[in-house]
Amino acid sequence: MSRGAAGSRPGPRLRPLGHLLWVSLLDLALPGRCAACGEPVIGALCHRCTDFLAGQLWTQPRVTRPDPCPPGLPVVVAAAPYAGILRMLLTAYKDDDRRDLLPLLGAVLRRPLTALGRPAGDELVVPVPSSRAAVRRRGDSPLLALAREAVGALGHDGVADALHPVRRVADQAGLGHQARAGNLAGAYSVRPAARALLSGRPVVLVDDVVTTGATLVEAARALRAVGARVEVAVTLAATQRQPRGTTRAPRSLEGEEC
Ligand SMILES: [Zn+2]
Repeated sequence: MSRGAAGSRPGPRLRPLGHLLWVSLLDLALPGRCAACGEPVIGALCHRCTDFLAGQLWTQPRVTRPDPCPPGLPVVVAAAPYAGILRMLLTAYKDDDRRDLLPLLGAVLRRPLTALGRPAGDELVVPVPSSRAAVRRRGDSPLLALAREAVGALGHDGVADALHPVRRVADQAGLGHQARAGNLAGAYSVRPAARALLSGRPVVLVDDVVTTGATLVEAARALRAVGARVEVAVTLAATQRQPRGTTRAPRSLEGEEC
């Protein structure tokens, strides 16, 4: 990997976890309900749930290797286990219209990016696309908004909505790793207008959750097919269901590919 040393150099300091509290308090316009516990609150999340979330985040984002680790999977660095309050907040954000969680979840996604010093230079950040059915149901692409939120605060504007689904896929929930890979094979393509932009370009992939890695493998395949160099993926969360899958601090990204 040509830029693998990025994980071994001293990275910029992560913002303290108290930053999450600050972000959650930014929306002071109207009292509402905490997105996790439902208590009346000013902002998206109450103090207690903000503390739960801060406690769930890994102190340092971790390299995550699903088991089995599918060929073609970029190195994946995640901010937290996919469980508890973060799982609730992602569902509320994506499916329950709690888009007021955008600054808070953007701050979570920013943690692995900051730990890796990404995006750097002319690197592009490309989110995994939502299915066409999900876009119709939700009216927008919540992951694209999250990527823009996370990257914009780093003073970088290189988020490219470059991938799109080219066929229907079944719901991945409940499928094993082989079924997921088959379900997704050939599912994504690079938008024609983005092909020239991506040729030879380093790319950071973004997804909300990594489970078997099948979604990231398919997204990386589509990007590499037009000449992009996909070397790392970042996610907010990683499922911990694979007993032999590993997570650890990214001392170096060398040799972490499947
Ligand atoms: Zn709460």
